[in-house]
Amino acid sequence: MAFDYDDNNIFARILRGEIPNDTVAENLHALAFRDIAPKAPSHVLVIPKGRYVSFDDFAANASAEEIAGFMRLCAEVARKEGVSLEGGNGFRAITNAGPDGVQEVPHFHLHIMGGRMMGPMLS
Ligand code: IMP
Repeated sequence: MAFDYDDNNIFARILRGEIPNDTVAENLHALAFRDIAPKAPSHVLVIPKGRYVSFDDFAANASAEEIAGFMRLCAEVARKEGVSLEGGNGFRAITNAGPDGVQEVPHFHLHIMGGRMMGPMLS
């Protein structure tokens, strides 16, 4: 298999309830919780509940319902955090994939960061 999923990664353990998390929002397909080391006043991680290693694994192999559920939860997080463009000042949404992307946790996640103006993208 192209994407070998490690069931002991920290986000899998959060999904199983073995490690506590600061939940911001949740739906059938995804969970959103605060990053333990925030890089912005609002820094939330959104993860699918399915076993997907990375963005490319999720995009290629998740169902349309999982992808829609995930994206809708991202939008809900931005609204709840007051950073969506419906009344807020915007945010940055990024994902790191693999070694060159410097992905630390091998369960797909999107970082949603806001509450300050972000610096340059590349570093
Ligand atoms: P990555 O480099 O894109 O894989 O980012 C992983 C993120 O997970 C980092 O920003 C970490 O601070 C965050 N993180 C690691 N462990 C935990 C945890 O237990 N709860 C919340 N966030 C975590």
